[in-house]
Amino acid sequence: MDQALFDLVYQAVVQRDARYDGIYYTGVRTTGIVCRPSCRARTPKPDNVTFYPSLEEALQAGFRPCKRCRPEEGGPLRPDAVLAAQADAVINAEYGERLTLNSLAERLKVSASHLHRTYKEVTGLTPAAKLDQVRLDKACGLLRLSRMPVSDIGRTVGFRGASHFAAWFHRHAGASPTEYRERVQGGMADEPEYDIPAHS
Ligand SMILES: [Zn+2]
Repeated sequence: MDQALFDLVYQAVVQRDARYDGIYYTGVRTTGIVCRPSCRARTPKPDNVTFYPSLEEALQAGFRPCKRCRPEEGGPLRPDAVLAAQADAVINAEYGERLTLNSLAERLKVSASHLHRTYKEVTGLTPAAKLDQVRLDKACGLLRLSRMPVSDIGRTVGFRGASHFAAWFHRHAGASPTEYRERVQGGMADEPEYDIPAHS
């Protein structure tokens, strides 16, 4: 498991968030116990944690299942959490495409209503709200850090029309893309583009 994924799953442990329940299992080396990521017991230090992709692997490594969160009882959350994680993977990869609840559901081979309900139960957001969040994050990052024209940024995050993008952005960010860019880049205009070291 790479560091970025570890951090993501560990964050769920800290927040006692159930989104990775049934997907990863938390082995805590100091106690020899394996938990669901959402376990309510004391949060282990990251250095003492190994995440396993299956309970079987954690048991083979010598961990005993936690009596409190009972990771062996997969329960109804298991397939739901997997479905939500799959939806996130598609949203994160394809936020720049025309993505609708129906096309997302079709990709995941479930009904749109099942996807909507399940995703909201697991994450607290609708798939549409999550897509907006991902697009807004990307758009803000590009406005802040790049010189890409606003219309190109709109296309990059899935909007064909510049005015549609501007209206959507304003609704979510409370400013037009241009205003937002001026605000976050403001004050930097007079600075030289590169810092030349005084002594070299
Ligand atoms: Zn536990």
